[in-house]
Amino acid sequence: MQVFTVKSALRPALSELQSSQKSIGFVPTMGALHDGHLSLVKRSLSVTDFTVVSIFVNPTQFNNASDLSNYPRTLERDLEKLQSLHADNIIIYAPEISDVYGLDVESQSFDFGGLENQMEGKFRPGHFNGVGTIVKFLFDLIQPKVAFFGEKDFQQALIVKKLASIIKNGPVVEIVPIFREQNGLAMSSRNERLTTEQRNEAFVIYESLQRAKKLFESESIASIKEAISAQFQSHALFKLEYFEIADSETLIPATNCEAGKRYRAFIAVFANDIRLIDTISLN
Ligand code: AMP
Repeated sequence: MQVFTVKSALRPALSELQSSQKSIGFVPTMGALHDGHLSLVKRSLSVTDFTVVSIFVNPTQFNNASDLSNYPRTLERDLEKLQSLHADNIIIYAPEISDVYGLDVESQSFDFGGLENQMEGKFRPGHFNGVGTIVKFLFDLIQPKVAFFGEKDFQQALIVKKLASIIKNGPVVEIVPIFREQNGLAMSSRNERLTTEQRNEAFVIYESLQRAKKLFESESIASIKEAISAQFQSHALFKLEYFEIADSETLIPATNCEAGKRYRAFIAVFANDIRLIDTISLN
C-alpha cells in the first residue's frame, strides 16, 4: 500500500502504471472509513489492477460550516482499515486542501442537466458544484478506467455519471449497493456522531423506506408521502427534512407512476444537527 499526500508525487507513479497497461480503479472518499467504503474498495480490487482511494474532506461541497468542522477526520485509523485488506495494489491519495485548490477554495459551476436541482441540490445549495469540482479534479489527476460510487448517495452517483460523460476521457462509473448496519441503518461516516440511543433507533429510516416500497404496490404516491411524513411527525429523535419519490433516471419528483419507468424513494433526516440520507429502489 502506498500513501501519497501531494499530486506531484502521485501523478508520475500512476503514469508508470498506465504506461505498463495496468488498469486503475478509483474510490473517492472523505475518510472516516467504514465497511461501506471498504465494499467499494473491494469491488474495485476485484475488477481492476490497482485501486486509488482518495481521502479528502472536500470543503466546497459543504453548505454548512459546522457540518464541515464536525466531520470526523480519522486518517490513521483509515489507513489501518485499508491495510487490513492486505492488498499491495492500493494507492492512497490523502492531500491537504492546498494541494487540491491552491489558494482559491472555490467551486466551478456545472450543468448536470437538471439532476442537480432536486432533493440534495434543493436542500444543500452549492453542494453539487462542490462535488463536481472535486470529482473532476480527481478524475483528471487519476485518470481511472472505472470509478466506484455508492448507491447511498444515488443522486451524487447519477451526477458523477453525467460528469464522466461530459469531460474528456471520463471513467466508467459503477454504482455499488448500500452497505448497512445489522439494524438496517445505512453506514455513514456521520453515524459516528450519533449517540447510542440515536444509533439504535435509526433503523426507522430504512424501515420507512421499506414501508414506502410496500405501499408503492397499492397506494398513490401522495398517500405514501403523507404516511411517511406522519410517521416522523411524532418522532422524538429524528426530524424529517424530505421524503421524495422520483424517477430513477431524471430524479424528477413523481406524482403518479408511468408504466415502464423506474422509481426510487429518497429520504433525509436530522438527528439534532447530524444529517442522514438513504434511498431505496421501489420497482
Ligand atoms: P463519503 O466518504 O461519505 O463521501 O463516501 C464515499 C463513497 O462511499 C461515496 O461514493 C458513497 O456513496 C460511498 N458510501 C458511503 N456510505 C456507503 C454505504 N453505506 N454503502 C456503500 N457505499 C457507501
